[in-house]
This record gives sequence, structure tokens and C-alpha cells, in this order.
Amino acid sequence: MLEHAYALLPEEWKTVCREHALPAFRAKQILLGLYQDKISNWNELTTLPGTIREKFASIFPLTAMQEVVRTPITGDGVTKVLLEAPDGQRVETVWIPADGRITQCISSQVGCAMHCAFCASGQLGCVRSLSAGEIVSEVLTLSRATGQYPNNIVVMGMGEPFMNYDAVLRALRVLNCQQGANIGARHITISTCGVVPGINRLANEGVQFELSVSLHAPSDMLRSKLMPVNRRWNIHELLEACDAYTKTTGRIVTYEYTLIDHVNDRPAHAAELIRLLHGRKARVNLIPLSPVDEFDGRTPSQADCLAFLDTLLKSGIHTTMRRSRGKQANAACGQLRLHNQKETRHGTENF
Ligand code: SAH
Repeated sequence: MLEHAYALLPEEWKTVCREHALPAFRAKQILLGLYQDKISNWNELTTLPGTIREKFASIFPLTAMQEVVRTPITGDGVTKVLLEAPDGQRVETVWIPADGRITQCISSQVGCAMHCAFCASGQLGCVRSLSAGEIVSEVLTLSRATGQYPNNIVVMGMGEPFMNYDAVLRALRVLNCQQGANIGARHITISTCGVVPGINRLANEGVQFELSVSLHAPSDMLRSKLMPVNRRWNIHELLEACDAYTKTTGRIVTYEYTLIDHVNDRPAHAAELIRLLHGRKARVNLIPLSPVDEFDGRTPSQADCLAFLDTLLKSGIHTTMRRSRGKQANAACGQLRLHNQKETRHGTENF
């Protein structure tokens, strides 16, 4: 199988150069070309001999996810971009400037197999996983268009990253490494719906990436209703894995909690969540539900969201709430693609 150029790590480029009888400095030139000059075609790498460029073009394709539709979400730069792979499959990514820094939310799969009730990404199931090269190219494509790399990466777009573990980890290592996009490990966040084996594996990778876990409910009964993954790994197993992760890595896990009106946002839920997290090293990030057509839950009132936040803060749990501009851009995972696919089916797409 052909290896996408973006899937290779610096050590691997060195090996490739050795195998092609090229001196080691060529590996540096290649990495500079890929990640500083951001070439989109091997022919642009004029520092390399023409014969090598041709050879590499045939074994390390440099095809990227191409921008199809750009949708401004807010007036201040938050933008969703629909990207298309060479086989026509589409994912979305979100560019979020805030406080002088830029966060890019990237996808790990086309669709998602986890079927969380409130999430638009899973409505159509999982079509396929993205390759490591495709995941890296989400960042390169936007970085070419904007002229800069993001400061932060969050794997919170479409897909469940731990159902595509190897490709996601490889892509994040490329984005993290100095000769790649050089994005600091602590500025890279992986979010999982609670795939316990993935948490266990990440604990032993020796990387400093941030881990977020989508909890969304304080009891198994409610969580299983909202998130089928809970029937495979329940809250107890999930929190045990997170505790072990913290013990091994020294990193604190952030629990994501999407607030849904009268479903999981009552004072009793807050109290149950506090009991659950009591004595644990944990942060909580509250996300007011972003309405999804296929789910009949509602966004709680701002007063209810603030009351929930306040209760957690008073109990001593480090808690944040996602700002509404972020909510629109971030929490509406998969909505752009879903919307766009429906349009495509009706033949009304205008590009
Ligand atoms: N598969 C990963 C990444 C998903 S998206 C995961 O489940 O963690 C990032 C976050 O947005 C998750 O916590 C997800 O549960 C949440 N989310 C999805 N749809 C949402 C919606 N309609 N409103 C609010 N949050 C949502």
C-alpha cells in the first residue's frame, strides 16, 4: 500500500532516504518542504533531484483533503470547512480563533459508529476511518489557506478517535513533532466517548496529549440511554481507566458534560456528578446542548446552565462552561456534513 507523505515521521523519512541512497540532509529538506513551505506537489520541492521527486510522487502521494464549502459560524472568524478526500468522502473541520490563539477542531472518521443520541456525526453511521495522512492534511489544507498553523488541535470533530487509534496517534505525532507542524503536545486534545481500551493504550504511549472524556450523565441508566458505548464500558470501568491514566501520566482528565434540558441538568444530576467525581483528580467542561434535528432534546436555559456550573464550582470541582460562540462552532459536530449530504441527495448543491 502507498504511504501518504503526511503519514511519515522524521525518523521514517531518514530511513526512506537511506533506502534510496540519499544523504540524511535530504530528509530535512523533505520535512521543510512539507511543513514549512507546505508544498502541495512533489514538483515544488526543487531542492530534491528531479528523479527522486518523480519516484516519491509515485510512492508517497501528497493528495490532501480539499476544501469544498466554507461556512462562517460567527462574525469573528469561527469557520467550519467541509473537506473532501480523493474518494469523495467528506469530513468537517472547524477553525476557531479566540483570544489571539487559534484552535482547529479536526475529524478522525467519516461519520461515527458510536451513535450518541444527541450527536449529528453518528446519524449516518461510520463510512470509514481517515488515514493518518488524511488527518494531518486537514491541518495542512487550512494552514495553506490561512497562512498559519493553529496553536491548538482538538480531535472533537466527526468520529471516535479511539476507534481509529493508530492513525490518530500517528497523525498527532506528526503534527506535534518539531519538524512537522510543531504544535505542543499539551495543546493537542483527544476527546473520546469512553472507549476504555483506547484510554489504557494512551496512558502508556509516553505522550503529553490532553485527554477529554465525554461523560454526559452521572448514572449508568441515563448514560446508557444517551450513549450506547456505556453498555460496553460502564461509568465505573470508565472512571477506573481515567484514574489509572492520571496515575500513570500525571495528567488530569477533563470530563465533557453536555447539558440537556430536564434530561441531565437537574440539581439531582449535579449532586450525583459531584459524588461521582469526589476525591478524583478531574476537570469538568459543560457544553450547553447544540440542537440537532434528529434529537428531540432542548438546550437548557442560561439560568439552569449557570446554576449547574455554580453547584459544581461550589463543591470544589474545577469546572468551565463552553462559551456560546464555541458552542455553535464546536458542539454542532457533524452537522455541516449531514446538512450537506442531504442537499447532495436532493441535488441542490451549489458548487
Ligand atoms: N467522539 C468524541 C469526539 C466528539 S465531539 C467524543 O465523543 O468525545 C466533542 C464533544 O461534543 C463530545 O463531548 C460530544 O459528546 C459533544 N457533542 C456532540 N454533539 C453535541 C451536541 N449536539 N451538543 C453538545 N455537545 C455535543
